[in-house]
Amino acid sequence: MLRRLREAGYEAYFVGGCVRDSVLGRRAHDWDVASAASPAEVERLFRHTAPTGAKHGTVTVLSAGGAVEVTAFRREGPYSDHRRPDSVAFTGDLLSDLARRDFTMNAMAMGEDGGIRDPFGGLGDVERGLIRCVGEPRRRFGEDALRMLRALRFAAQLGFELEGETRRAIGECAPLAASLSAERVRDELVKTLRSPRPELAWELLSMGLMARYAGAVGPAPPLSRLPQYARLAHLCRELEMRGCIGSAEEFLRALRFDRRTVRAATAATAALASGSRDYKRLLRDYGREAVLAAWPHSRELRRVLASGECWSVDGLALGGAELLDMGLRGRELGEALSALLEHVTDHPEDNRADILCKLIAEERERYGENS
Ligand code: ATP
Ligand code: MG
Repeated sequence: MLRRLREAGYEAYFVGGCVRDSVLGRRAHDWDVASAASPAEVERLFRHTAPTGAKHGTVTVLSAGGAVEVTAFRREGPYSDHRRPDSVAFTGDLLSDLARRDFTMNAMAMGEDGGIRDPFGGLGDVERGLIRCVGEPRRRFGEDALRMLRALRFAAQLGFELEGETRRAIGECAPLAASLSAERVRDELVKTLRSPRPELAWELLSMGLMARYAGAVGPAPPLSRLPQYARLAHLCRELEMRGCIGSAEEFLRALRFDRRTVRAATAATAALASGSRDYKRLLRDYGREAVLAAWPHSRELRRVLASGECWSVDGLALGGAELLDMGLRGRELGEALSALLEHVTDHPEDNRADILCKLIAEERERYGENS
């Protein structure tokens, strides 16, 4: 990859996250190359390519080892909206390409020989476990407010700390994050919640980086003890309890979470808020996914789920079809199913077609056929 570019006369390096991850001894999940070649030249040099972001100088090269994004060395133009540079300019050199990158650990390059180019002290910061801006932090956050959320997200993923000036600058520049799109904020929140230090999601909120959606007060709840799938709901519940958000649903919608996630996390939050620990009724009312997210460590809940005991109409030994055969219709049928479910919840041993039939018959006798 690098060799091919070099042999054609272009300087080329691995850059960004993959260099950081290999210095850390972690597996990089994608490999990015920066080179002096233009996108057109890259397309000429490699057989299988896809034009990923030609405007930004990126071509994806499909090789045996996977897809690699090859980007022409660039320098970014002025920023006017705290989000995106107004223009990008291609430059011939590695140094200005590295200088536009966010943090020192992300501003290293690795040549074909494995040698690291590290003009901003990234290696030292990786060693110390520090996230430090390339250049003056206030200026860099002013250019692109997303960098502040990325700083906390990387701290959460890598177990690093924010270097002092970088942290102070986030405190001062946090209001600029209001200009970011909900989707980008949400993605950083999700990555932070999925990391080994999900508590830093609380810091995104308490530092004011999500002020458009919520603030946070008080110490962070212990989210890292929870499995990943349960964390969003518990975060919402904490925010609700401390009066930081109106409702979980409102908060999640504002962040443009997909409908399924909104539904599941809202239901889990409501289950937690119900104060009940009657798992079968909770399962009936909120569904399996929500109740599991609310109490991921409950052995009693696992027992209920493994027992095969019935907690939804789907689990009843008598279904809608049989009730239709018995002459039940419409509302009466719906009510009968609910009554059977209520009965079976308390008496799991009665979940047999013959017993349920008898129950229905008795019930109808008591109230008369069509009342
Ligand atoms: P991840 O493991 O999350 O992919 P990454 O470091 O590869 O981490 P990307 O978002 O894939 O992060 O970006 C690749 C590289 O581009 C970064 O390492 C960094 O050098 C640069 N970069 C990305 N976003 C920004 C930004 N907002 N400002 C400056 N440089 C950035
Ligand atoms: Mg990446």
